[in-house]
Amino acid sequence: MDYLPIFLDLRGKTALVVGGGDVAARKATLLINAGAWVNVVAPGPLAESYDNLRKTDRIIHRQEAFRPEHLDGVEVVFAASEDDALDQQVYEAASARHLPVNVVDKPKSCSFIMPSIIDRSPVVVAVSSGGEAPVLSRLLRARLETLIPAAYGRLAALAGRFKGPVRKHFPTTEGRRKFWENALLSPVAEMVFSGREQEAEYTLNKMLEDSSTAVGVGEVYLVGAGPGNPDLLTFRALRLMQQADVVVYDRLVSPPILDMCRRDADRLYVGKERDNHAVPQDEINMVLVRLAREGKRVLRLKGGDPFIFGRGGEEIETLREHGVPFQVVPAVTAAAGVASYAGIPLTHRDHAQALVLVTGHLKDGTMDLDWDMLCRPKQTIVIYMGLKGLVTLCDEMKKHGMPGSTPAAIVQQGTTINQKTVTGTLDTLPALAASAELKPPTLIIVGSVVSLHEKLNWFHPEPAKDDHWHTPLDRPASM
Ligand code: SAH
Repeated sequence: MDYLPIFLDLRGKTALVVGGGDVAARKATLLINAGAWVNVVAPGPLAESYDNLRKTDRIIHRQEAFRPEHLDGVEVVFAASEDDALDQQVYEAASARHLPVNVVDKPKSCSFIMPSIIDRSPVVVAVSSGGEAPVLSRLLRARLETLIPAAYGRLAALAGRFKGPVRKHFPTTEGRRKFWENALLSPVAEMVFSGREQEAEYTLNKMLEDSSTAVGVGEVYLVGAGPGNPDLLTFRALRLMQQADVVVYDRLVSPPILDMCRRDADRLYVGKERDNHAVPQDEINMVLVRLAREGKRVLRLKGGDPFIFGRGGEEIETLREHGVPFQVVPAVTAAAGVASYAGIPLTHRDHAQALVLVTGHLKDGTMDLDWDMLCRPKQTIVIYMGLKGLVTLCDEMKKHGMPGSTPAAIVQQGTTINQKTVTGTLDTLPALAASAELKPPTLIIVGSVVSLHEKLNWFHPEPAKDDHWHTPLDRPASM
C-alpha cells in the first residue's frame, strides 16, 4: 500500500487554496462541502466557477501573491494555481511546516493525494489508484455509484440514531457488531432504501427488544480459497471471509486472498510445511471447537477445495462430535484451476476419458499408490504434493507399463502471477523440473492431454518481484 487512506475532519477548520481558476474552484467546492472555511489566494479575479461558492459566506479571497504567512492557522493546503513554479513554492512552504499539502496533478509534490469520492454522507467511499491511473479510479467510482443505493446515507443516519439504545442493550463491542450485522443484513435496509423509514425504525426497536445479550455458540465456516488467484474465489467464500471474527489459515492460502478477509478479524496461522506439521491436525480441530465455543464466527480457510486433499472432512467430524455448527464452501481445486491456467484440458475426446487425482506425498521414501490403476491408457493423472517424489513417481509409472514418452507437466503456483509450467515426458520431466528450481506449491499432470499445452497455453503472467507465496502474518493471533 503506497498511501494510507484517512478521512479528515475539516468542519469549522480553515483550508488554503492557492489559485483562482476552475481547477482551484473544484477543490474549494469539496472543502466547503466538507464544512471547511476556505482562504483563496489569487492575485487576479476569481473564475466564474467560484461564483456559487462566493454566495456561501465560507470563502475569503485574498487578492494578492502567495506568501508563506498565508499558511498561518490553516489545516490543509491545495496548490492549484496551474503555475508550476508557484505551486512548487507553495508545496515547499507547506512541507516546511509539516502541513498536509496537495499540488493538483503532481503526485510527487503531494503529502496526500485526493481520491475519487462517492458521497452518501455520512457514508463516504474513496477510491484511489495511488496516482498511477486516475481515469481507472474514476471508472471504478462510476461503477460503485451504481452499486451503492442512493439511500445508503439514510441507512447510516438511521444506524446513527440507534447507536445509544444499541449500546445500552449490548455492552460489548462483539455483541453490538453482531446485532448490527443481523440488522443491516435484514429487511431493515431494504425498508430504508424504499422510503419506509418508520417501518425500519419499528423493526429495529423490535429486534432490540427480542435479542438477548448472551453469546451463543459461534459457527465454523470451512471455506475453500481456490488455487491462489483471488478472482477464483466464490461469492459465498468472499461474503464469509468478510464476516468472520477469526481466520484460521494455512500455508496454501495466498497473501492476496488473506488480504480480502475482514481487516479486524484475528488471524491464526496453522500452516503445514511438508514433513513438518506446524500445528498437528488434532490440535487444529480442537482450536476450531474452542474458538466457536467462545461465540466466534470462525473462518477455516483452506487452499483449493476443502474436501480434496484438504483434511476438511476430519475437521468437521470433530466439529460434529462437539456439536459445533459449520458450513462448507467448495472451491476450485488445484487440478481444475492449474490445468485451466496452463492450457491443459484435463479431459479431451481424443486424449482422455477419465481423470484421476492422487496425492504423491512420500511416506518413508515411497508412494503408496495403485500403480496399475494409474497406468491405464486414455486417462489423465493429476498428482498433488508430488514434487519431492517426482523421480519415484516417473520411475514407478514406467515400471508399471507407461511409455517413457508419455507427456507430463509440472506447474508452479498455478493461476497466480508466479505461474511457471515445465513440460516434458516421464523420461525427461525430473531433470527439467530440477533445473527449473520450482517453488511450491506445484502440481504434476501426466497424460497425453499435456501435449495440448503448447497450442492452448493462454496465460502469460508477468512474474512478481516478490515471489513469496506465503508470508505468515506477523500480527499476533489471539488464541
Ligand atoms: N485442497 C487443495 C489441495 C491441498 S494439497 C486443493 O483442492 O487444491 C496441497 C497441494 O495442492 C500442493 O502440494 C500442490 O500439489 C497443490 N496445489 C495447490 N494449489 C496449487 C497451485 N496454485 N499451483 C500448483 N499446485 C497447487
